[in-house]
Amino acid sequence: TTTQDIPDIELTNDELADIDVFAGLEMSASSDIEVPPKLIDQVIGQEHATEVMKKAATQRRHVMMIGSPGTGKSMLAKAMAELLPKEEMQDILVYPNPEDSNNPIVRTVPAGRGKQIVNAHKMEARKKLQMRNTLIMLLLIGIVGYALITYQWLMGIIAAAFVFMALRYSTPREEAMVPKLLINHDASSIAPFIDGTGSHAGALLGDVRHDPFQSGGLETPSHDRVEAGAIHRSHGGVLFIDEINTLTPHSQQNLLTALQEGMFPITGQSERSSGAMVRTEPVPCRFVMVAAGNLDAVQGMHPALRSRIRGYGYEIYMKESMEDTPENRRKFIRFIAQEVKNDGKIPHFDRSAIVEVIREARRRSNRKGHLTLKLRDMGGLIRVAGDLARQEGADFTSAKHVIAAKTTARSIEDQISDEYIRRSRDYDITVVEGNQVGRVNGLAVMGSDSGSVLPIMAEVTPSQGANGSVIATGLLKEIAQESIKNVSALIKKFTGKDIRNMDIHIQFIGTYQGVEGDSASVSVATAVISAIENIPVRQDVAMTGSLSVRGDVLPIGGVTYKIEAAAKAGIKKVIIPRSNLDDVLIEERYRQMVEIVPVGHIEEVLQNALVPENRDGFLSKLRKMAAVHQTPGLFD
Ligand code: ADP
Repeated sequence: TTTQDIPDIELTNDELADIDVFAGLEMSASSDIEVPPKLIDQVIGQEHATEVMKKAATQRRHVMMIGSPGTGKSMLAKAMAELLPKEEMQDILVYPNPEDSNNPIVRTVPAGRGKQIVNAHKMEARKKLQMRNTLIMLLLIGIVGYALITYQWLMGIIAAAFVFMALRYSTPREEAMVPKLLINHDASSIAPFIDGTGSHAGALLGDVRHDPFQSGGLETPSHDRVEAGAIHRSHGGVLFIDEINTLTPHSQQNLLTALQEGMFPITGQSERSSGAMVRTEPVPCRFVMVAAGNLDAVQGMHPALRSRIRGYGYEIYMKESMEDTPENRRKFIRFIAQEVKNDGKIPHFDRSAIVEVIREARRRSNRKGHLTLKLRDMGGLIRVAGDLARQEGADFTSAKHVIAAKTTARSIEDQISDEYIRRSRDYDITVVEGNQVGRVNGLAVMGSDSGSVLPIMAEVTPSQGANGSVIATGLLKEIAQESIKNVSALIKKFTGKDIRNMDIHIQFIGTYQGVEGDSASVSVATAVISAIENIPVRQDVAMTGSLSVRGDVLPIGGVTYKIEAAAKAGIKKVIIPRSNLDDVLIEERYRQMVEIVPVGHIEEVLQNALVPENRDGFLSKLRKMAAVHQTPGLFD
């Protein structure tokens, strides 16, 4: 994408008035914002989590974090490592065991000492080696001298060859005695942070390498083949495991043992390797465990491990959005500065770019008056925008770069949905003009940030059985099924027709991913009413909304993405629940393309979607019926 054809964006008067975006910050660009040095102070929006983390760090408690990806879980875990006291840190050494070479000895020393000890051992070994070599040389000279004096040449040569071979091919025992430095710290470094996400058993619990030459003087001594696992490398620090439920039950069980004992011996993890014969003494692993995941992760987790963490620590729920207050906007602007600084290569953001990023953060929050906290994605957008600015050699990243970046940095779902819209228009699956009986353009959300037009067809046929039934097809998930039931109750009540002798077929078209939620229930109701009453539906109208059994239109999610998808597909009018009106944060370019009609009741939906000629008779009939049923307020 180039930004050549996008004009520089002047802030509109609205936005200048809305300069409150900057919440009183005196700044011309993100370079004016100071970034705090400590990671914990860089975390924004997760105040509760931050407080708990600080507390957990001083008390060395385990933490379980639940929340969406990219909300700062691993960042907080890293921040916790910075806060942990350093006294707990130790170096770990593995020594050969002269009694049983398959059971190496484990020793701990204060952080920083390990390297000195190993160096001392190496020096010692080198000295001994030199002495040995000197002795052998003397022996050699002796033998050769003797042979020269006594003229026994043959014996001399053979003896010299023996001594030489001995020198060349034996592993000096001294070198094999040098301990291995398993865990090493600088005395001044902070507590370790180890990310054990997705580790296999060896990487998590430690391993002993296979030795191809198990004997014959060429073997690597077993203690030298011992490798630390994530649980050992995080000794004295933080072990972070995301998607904790993806660890095998066996690994989770071992993790629990490690947590309980504070030490865990290292053994070869692959059964048939020579490493499997080796088992060290227990190796210390007193780490603070930070487990993370979404709600599924908690449910899929080993129950004993979960209760251990809960019993000895905290559980935190990460927020997905924060209120759009001046204070939080100031934080968000600092987040932009942080991301630019951490990236190190992209130009800072000027005021226009910041306005645009904040606008996008509002949009992505999917909630009125909120800013999104899915900040990894926002960071991605910031970097793409910055890259575009850098390519152009601009001094600052500005609004046009952010806008161009939004088209580049789109989610896979969004790209697929665009492609799908394009294709389905080629094949006339999406109809956006004319009128049709029993067909409604519904709206759905794919993934988390992309909408699509979801056509719904209804057909009424004489019942086959004694009782009519409602048959819905098109990969409906549970909630959608439920909503169909509600709708049929409503239809029974409002059409007044005896639907006992009809079968109602409802088809969701193009739902290759399945339909979730009940946001299609107004569309279903409209399609069915249209089919029963034989009144055509306007196809340039799309709608979304949930329906109560009394016909009230209730709020739904993802309204912004749905409207944008409708606009892209060529729809002229979008009907949405009135209570969602404040959630509408569509991009400027779509504003001219669609009319947004907020509604509170199914009657308003019908008024907007049904073709006028046939509509009014039906609606007045409905009104009369409502009067008969004495349902006050419904149709006035
Ligand atoms: P998670 O572990 O929840 O998937 P990460 O902690 O890896 O998310 O977040 C990825 C990046 O997004 C971080 O490195 C940081 O740049 C940014 N980020 C995420 N959440 C926050 C936050 N609450 N405050 C500041 N930056 C954040």
